[in-house]
Amino acid sequence: MSALILAEVLAARRRISGVATLGTPLVPSPFLGALSGGDFLLKLEIAQATGAFKLRGAANAVLGLPQDATGVTCCSTGNHGRAVAYAAARRGLKAVICMSRLVPEAKVAGIRALGAEARILGESQDEAQIESRRLADEDGFCEIPPFDDPRVIAGQGTIGLELMEERPDLETLLVPLSGGGLAGGIAATVKQIKPSVRIIGVTMDRGAAMYQSVKAGRPVPVTEVASLADSLGGGIGGENRHSFALCQRYLDDIVLVTEDEIYRAMQVHYFEDRLVCEGAGAVGAAALVAGKLGRDLGPTASIVTGRNVDMNVFTDIVSGRDVALGDVTLEGKPYAA
Ligand SMILES: *Cc1c(COP(=O)(O)O)cnc(C)c1O
Repeated sequence: MSALILAEVLAARRRISGVATLGTPLVPSPFLGALSGGDFLLKLEIAQATGAFKLRGAANAVLGLPQDATGVTCCSTGNHGRAVAYAAARRGLKAVICMSRLVPEAKVAGIRALGAEARILGESQDEAQIESRRLADEDGFCEIPPFDDPRVIAGQGTIGLELMEERPDLETLLVPLSGGGLAGGIAATVKQIKPSVRIIGVTMDRGAAMYQSVKAGRPVPVTEVASLADSLGGGIGGENRHSFALCQRYLDDIVLVTEDEIYRAMQVHYFEDRLVCEGAGAVGAAALVAGKLGRDLGPTASIVTGRNVDMNVFTDIVSGRDVALGDVTLEGKPYAA
């Protein structure tokens, strides 16, 4: 899939309509709009039943499986696994979700609550990937990759359709970026509808796999470290076939944000927008608040991708307390506008 065909995204939208929530709210943020100097809108994918946009892509893949499929498997940093578990349960399929030890307990619990088996292996997304591949090769499971898959990418692209239908005047999109299924799907869709929209991938500065890969011109491995944006962790796969090419071709820029900036952005979304979101969902706001986007953004939308944050960590952040991240401590600071 070098170019995502709009027809595939439209077909995905029809397929997933009973499982994923379509037309999630697009709400203005007056506070962030004052900073950006124009309309600043939040696309609330936190409204999905599983708390993150990944249900769109996972539902498209799972609902498209042949009738005789019996089980599904995937590797995940948490939200994709929850989405696959949810879609599989709706189709009556067994699901085995493979994750590394870096995945927060709240996310693992959410997956088990859906009746799926959660398998925890190793310290990285790559090790989880080996197990899901083995289940597919040896035990007949259908593998649903978290981002490098045309069905998943087309599902995430439905967000792009909704944005362009609701606000054709949008000029800038801020898209949280990890494996690039979301950014690739949205960018490929939006650029076919309105090529002048600027699409900026935003990710954390530590272990930014897609950023490093686009810079190098080929997929490069990165070391995974703990981050407030845990959903953005992991590599893009050495044999990436789809999402890397889409990001390389369609993203106008990739902006990196620090852990302190993500911390602050989660406070901003909470105190100013009254939103609970996870670190990965706050990176668009983080880039704006940190002054990393420049001027003249025009009407802008930031995809608030998920809300599956450990609530103890979340209350620490909104209370301005320190947060432990692996072996480092992120110094807290009470919110003041
Ligand atoms: C997976 C995820 C992302 C990144 O999506 P990719 O397709 O891997 O780039 C962003 N935010 C949240 C909350 C996620 O779960």
